[in-house]
Amino acid sequence: MTSITGGCLCRDVRFTLSAAPIVTRVCWCRVCQYIGAGSATVNVCFPSAALQLTGELGDFTLLADSGNVMHRRFCPRCATQLFSAAEARAHLVFVRAGALDDSELARPAMTIWTAAAPSRACIDERLPRVPGQPPPAG
Ligand SMILES: [Zn+2]
Ligand SMILES: [Zn+2]
Repeated sequence: MTSITGGCLCRDVRFTLSAAPIVTRVCWCRVCQYIGAGSATVNVCFPSAALQLTGELGDFTLLADSGNVMHRRFCPRCATQLFSAAEARAHLVFVRAGALDDSELARPAMTIWTAAAPSRACIDERLPRVPGQPPPAG
């Protein structure tokens, strides 16, 4: 079985994923630009049942542009963004690619919310683009 590991910058939070990624997407939505310091975020989707973690998480809940109530979870000590999940699709968790120990695992399949990207954005020409919210990942 696959075992993928990751955690936050200060290592208070560590996690293991016992499933293969479902899909990886680059997201330029406006919220991701806050989280990503002006850039897009790279998010690797897994079945949430495959996630086991140690440590405490902060949770910032917000109604997203997609209309979904989103939970964005992070380390309260070092503020590393770790996970996002939609309340309506709680069986999926999106892991922030920067938190994976092996950053090569994140292989984006598409770029989403490109309509919200600033003109300076570098968007991979090889990937399909979705201007807004894509169809559900699974
Ligand atoms: Zn931390
Ligand atoms: Zn986003």
